[in-house]
Amino acid sequence: MTLGTALQQGTAILEKASLPVARLTAEVLLSHALRRDRAYLYAHSTDELTELAWIHYGRYLDERLKGKPTQYITHKQEFFGRDFYVNGDVLIPRPETEHLVEAAISYSRLFQPRTIVDVGTGSGAIATSLALELEQPVWASDISLAALSVASRNAKTYNAPVAFFACDLLEAMRPASVDLLVSNPPYVPGADSANMQVEVRDWEPHVALFAGDTGLEIYRRLIAQAAVAVKPRGRLYFELGYRSLDGVRELLSSQWDDFEVVSDLAGWPRVIGATLCSP
Ligand code: GLN
Repeated sequence: MTLGTALQQGTAILEKASLPVARLTAEVLLSHALRRDRAYLYAHSTDELTELAWIHYGRYLDERLKGKPTQYITHKQEFFGRDFYVNGDVLIPRPETEHLVEAAISYSRLFQPRTIVDVGTGSGAIATSLALELEQPVWASDISLAALSVASRNAKTYNAPVAFFACDLLEAMRPASVDLLVSNPPYVPGADSANMQVEVRDWEPHVALFAGDTGLEIYRRLIAQAAVAVKPRGRLYFELGYRSLDGVRELLSSQWDDFEVVSDLAGWPRVIGATLCSP
């Protein structure tokens, strides 16, 4: 079988199962089976598929048909211009989260925070991007040891100066030690799981997605801890869940000011920034 035929057949199988972007997915899976990039497929469409590549490709298609996200099959997702290794222990980095990184970078270029902490780092995509873009050390925590092993692998790949520590939110940080806190915390309300894409609900780690009944539960604990761990006039940036802006602003209202809200490309408020008031 040629690469061109394999691509057509794979696309047809995925289309039949009503999976989105069937052609692109088949290309990604076939090039992964060949351990080549996608451009290779076009230059070699009449080459014969080796038996080994054919076995790999068949397995990847089968996994995708069972609902596994493509990124967990290829173990790769691009974020802020770099490829990150991912597996089922971490959330697949989302393009919306790049707004959080951008906001933190803009702030940092102006105010040069010394101690930057990423809470709930997951794949480490945020912490690694910040450390590399700002060329400075970043601290990153996660409650999941499995996630931390993915995150440290990613930081190592890029030689990024990120120091990882295992703890619940900011519990391990000394009082008034953080200049800039960033986080994309779990914020999906439990009840939303019924309406979620199955790829997300059945495959991505629940500890990274779900917060509790309202979706504000982790923000509430994180904001309470942040008021202690962040230095007076230090800043935070959080990613926001759907419809969580008002709730999060309310939680911040008593001790934080200088609010900044960034919308994503779909027009949803996606990032909130705030500064801790002086005591
Ligand atoms: N944005 C993710 C989703 O919609 C959730 C990420 C999170 O909970 N922080 O699936």
